[in-house]
Amino acid sequence: MTTPIYYVNDAPHVGHAYTTLHADISARWNRLKRNEVFFLTGTDEHGLKIAEAAEKLGISPQELTDSTSRRFKDAWNQLGIKYDDFIRTTEPRHIETVNAFTQKIYDAGYIVKDTWEGLYCISCESNYIESELENGMCPIHKRPVEKVKEDNYFFKLSQFEDRLLKFYEDNPKFIEPETKFNEALSFIKSGLKDISVTRSSFDWGITVPWDHSQVFYVWFEALINYVTALGYSSDPDRFNRLWPNTVHMIGKEITRFHCIWWPAMCMAAGINPPSKILVHGWLLVGGEKMSKTSLNKIDPVDLVDEFGLDQFRYLLVKGSPFGPDSEFSYEELKRRNNSDLANNLGNLLSRVLAVVNSKCDSITPKVDTDSILKPAADLAVESAKENWDNFSPANALEAIWNLLRATNAYLETNEPWKGEPGEKVNKVLGDSLEVLRIAAVLISPVMPTSAAEILTRIGLTNYLDDVSLSDDLGWGQYPGGFQIKKDAPLFNRIK
Ligand SMILES: [Zn+2]
Repeated sequence: MTTPIYYVNDAPHVGHAYTTLHADISARWNRLKRNEVFFLTGTDEHGLKIAEAAEKLGISPQELTDSTSRRFKDAWNQLGIKYDDFIRTTEPRHIETVNAFTQKIYDAGYIVKDTWEGLYCISCESNYIESELENGMCPIHKRPVEKVKEDNYFFKLSQFEDRLLKFYEDNPKFIEPETKFNEALSFIKSGLKDISVTRSSFDWGITVPWDHSQVFYVWFEALINYVTALGYSSDPDRFNRLWPNTVHMIGKEITRFHCIWWPAMCMAAGINPPSKILVHGWLLVGGEKMSKTSLNKIDPVDLVDEFGLDQFRYLLVKGSPFGPDSEFSYEELKRRNNSDLANNLGNLLSRVLAVVNSKCDSITPKVDTDSILKPAADLAVESAKENWDNFSPANALEAIWNLLRATNAYLETNEPWKGEPGEKVNKVLGDSLEVLRIAAVLISPVMPTSAAEILTRIGLTNYLDDVSLSDDLGWGQYPGGFQIKKDAPLFNRIK
């Protein structure tokens, strides 16, 4: 599971957090399934833009990237991102891999020298053709592009048209959603041009191994990070075991690099392309993409401070389903926090525990194997599993919340807080505790701390450590007989 490696000139904002959080959730879901997971993120650190920024500050590019890369690490730690590896493109392991990987492509005859003339957006570190510009400006950054002419090395992308088409045909789920698959496919069908992959006008990059007067174009070497971290040049056994069983999560602005360049580069180097690329839309603020240049970026750490860590994770994932663009709004986060978290899940937990306290001497009743909630629970488990597996966390959460709402309604119908202690009250509470047990397991990829806390409060300390998704999510397993742990409400309402 990978995120893009983020370009270090920008500070981490909610847009970066969105991709990284989705990758984290998917990695956690797969760990819960006891699958072997390797979750990779990192930073992209070469290119003209970094060299210029460092020069302005009077420090070396390496000094600049050391401090700016750390901002991403810090942000991910504060967002509870449990990555297995954080790669930096300035690390020796990456430089070694780029040398080996590109040499392979060069030796196969797919990299050749030629003259490059083109339009270049320094903010994107990307080339454009005239027709892609909007009013002569970069369509993403709305800033002027530069005319550039250089003698460079070219990757013969045009020679991969047929192989890419065949690969797309054989792998109809290679890119999701389908709209992005179709866009990439029609881009290939419209004809591919060779691409310039080196630069001679600046030196903050990885030196071309067969021509020390050139450095690699930042995108061309950055993509190779995905195989660096798996041991392409350092540990072939590990690499062959893990590659190409890889899921790349990316934002839609970098589909051309990932869906066309990268699979062709893999083919040119003699390895299979990655197995899947998941493309998501943009988080919009007032209709505009969140970015450094448009000054509308939101620091995710500020939102964690305000809402709490698990709350922020839930709100971001639930409010902006993976795939289309979605408007990011603070009011909406607040509304959802109060309705879904405080009034629904939080309220269910505190009500159940309060009644266990008042009617059962704080000892939890066990679940009844027969319950009106059983079909709703079975449905929630099935739907959540399917949606987690299909990278639709927002839908997985919706399925779980349907069960939580049904359980709150069940409590309101039966009003155990009014009943006499005894069998009927015990049954209602046992059923509700069973829902809390099941729901806590299912929400744990998004809200790991809250899930563990819910389980602890109902007597199931460390339950997630060895829960089995195949054996333990069926109805009727909450054993009861535990002393409840009383504490402050799990989620606060925000006024
Ligand atoms: Zn641009």
